[in-house]
Amino acid sequence: MDDLTPKEALDFSELGFDTAAVRAGTLRTEYNEHAEALFLTSSFCFKSAAEAAERFANSEDFFTYSRFTNPTVTMLQDRLAALEGGEACIVTSSGMSAILSIVMSALNAGDHLVSSRSIFGSSLNLFATIFSRFGITTTFVDPNDLDAWRKAVQPNTRLFFLESPSNPLTEVSDIRAIGEIARQVNALYVVDNCFCTPALQRPLEFGADVVVHSATKYIDGQGRVLGGAIVGKRDFVMGKVFPFVRTAGPTLSAFNAWLMLRGLETLSIRMERQSANALKIAQWLETRPCIKRVWYPKLRSHPQHEIAMRQQKLGGALVAFELEGDTPEAQRANAWRVIDQTRLCSITGNLGDTRTTITHPASTTHARVTPEARAAAGVTEGVIRLSVGLEDPQDICDDLARGTA
Ligand SMILES: *Cc1c(COP(=O)(O)O)cnc(C)c1O
Repeated sequence: MDDLTPKEALDFSELGFDTAAVRAGTLRTEYNEHAEALFLTSSFCFKSAAEAAERFANSEDFFTYSRFTNPTVTMLQDRLAALEGGEACIVTSSGMSAILSIVMSALNAGDHLVSSRSIFGSSLNLFATIFSRFGITTTFVDPNDLDAWRKAVQPNTRLFFLESPSNPLTEVSDIRAIGEIARQVNALYVVDNCFCTPALQRPLEFGADVVVHSATKYIDGQGRVLGGAIVGKRDFVMGKVFPFVRTAGPTLSAFNAWLMLRGLETLSIRMERQSANALKIAQWLETRPCIKRVWYPKLRSHPQHEIAMRQQKLGGALVAFELEGDTPEAQRANAWRVIDQTRLCSITGNLGDTRTTITHPASTTHARVTPEARAAAGVTEGVIRLSVGLEDPQDICDDLARGTA
């Protein structure tokens, strides 16, 4: 982009992940600042009317207006594309607006998509209740039943949507195997990589066409701002998604992009430490008598442990566990008691933070999902989701010990 120069004329695809995480995409102004600059400006000036005309006509290549492009946002996009191993990236105001933008860019009224039923609650609602009003229909399937994906395909199927690992039960699916089915039927294959991040799993290497993120989670990593990201082939991302985002406006603010650039610098280190802490806590939870079961991909007891070992570098920082109880009411009472007796864990719906958060999905994040869909996804009243942070894991175990004695 004309007046800004890339900080390093390097091909980051040939360098290590950790190098790209701190250096890829950085642009420098004429002042040669070392850290990435924050461009808090809604628009950019032109030297003449003719230059304005030229730049508006080529808004992908020039900075004109921050709904279209902004240097701080561009730096984040280029860095995320490098980290996911994709050709291009567009960031958005939230994870949900990223998913919205993909579907609005790729599908038309009358089209159909097939989605895993084990996805983030708002993603499920977006597909089931909002897109259906605009003539885009969805079939939800058990993500680990490959036949179900095949059987769900209709002549108008244009998109497959998967989240792995899923929220809140860390259900892991074979990204490559589902991708082969998507390819056979010419469907755009979208994978939500929110929980692993490219530090632990790169879905494009397993056949995904598009990776989507809630950057609100581990990419920022410190529970500060909302954001989303879409990574994939240049044709789709710049040819389809960019015109949609530019026109409809679910743009990421420069300030949020700047914070996320800071977050990415520690992504690998955080994911490694938080995964190690999560494994310790998951192993400890398995020893607690009042806990019926624990879901964590790196535990041998996890139903898709083998797949997780194959496609994830580490287990990630989400742990789910289910309290005993004879009735749903008893299960809820037990789960709420565990939550209410914590003093350290934050009772909040967010995840991916450096601070451990504790959530009761059935009454919060998944409360708007129908009871049938919740049951199908295994989110009972006894389930608690823990997003493990950077605290000393023993302190978190001690915090959970009061309610699980
Ligand atoms: C949080 C989340 C989203 C939605 O992201 P927002 O930034 O909250 O809009 C989508 N997918 C997954 C897996 C999430 O955890």
